[in-house]
Amino acid sequence: MNIKISDIANLPSRFGNFKVKAFKEGCKEHLVVFKEPLEEIPIVRVHSECLTGDALGSLKCDCRDQLEFSLNTIEKEGGMVIYLRQEGRNIGLLNKINAYALQDKGLNTVEANHQLGFSADERTYEMVTTILHHFNIKKIKLLTNNPTKINSIEDIDIVERLPIIIDANVYNEAYLKVKKDQMGHLI
Ligand SMILES: [Zn+2]
Repeated sequence: MNIKISDIANLPSRFGNFKVKAFKEGCKEHLVVFKEPLEEIPIVRVHSECLTGDALGSLKCDCRDQLEFSLNTIEKEGGMVIYLRQEGRNIGLLNKINAYALQDKGLNTVEANHQLGFSADERTYEMVTTILHHFNIKKIKLLTNNPTKINSIEDIDIVERLPIIIDANVYNEAYLKVKKDQMGHLI
């Protein structure tokens, strides 16, 4: 895969002053948000795009809370958020909205994905290794509640897992319970 890499630019934000760098992989464009200087073993959050949560503040999931927690963490302690464009656990926005429609009829997030012919989680993480190698990072402290992610990131030494602590709300309580009970998330 031919990957195009942008220059580094400043991104002042409500969470702090960050640096950003974009990675274009085919039609997908990913973003790395980071604080300089990067430590030898930086804190890294791998966040998959969720338009409804990240941009619109949807209460159906915890994506925006996790993103905000991560940006606040790297502002304070340094590190990097790798924002991967794999919307809806990589089934895309249109399929995700169809899954939401099935959830409106009573299916949970895993059942809805299965009914549409997808597995519960279609995400991949090869790009994470490519990006970390680009930054010459070999060891990280991974900010995640998802143990699958720890096993999915190859050729990088994950020396520590740091948890993301957020509160449930009335809309995402059931979703978080499915993530914990059926998808093995440590929350
Ligand atoms: Zn979400």
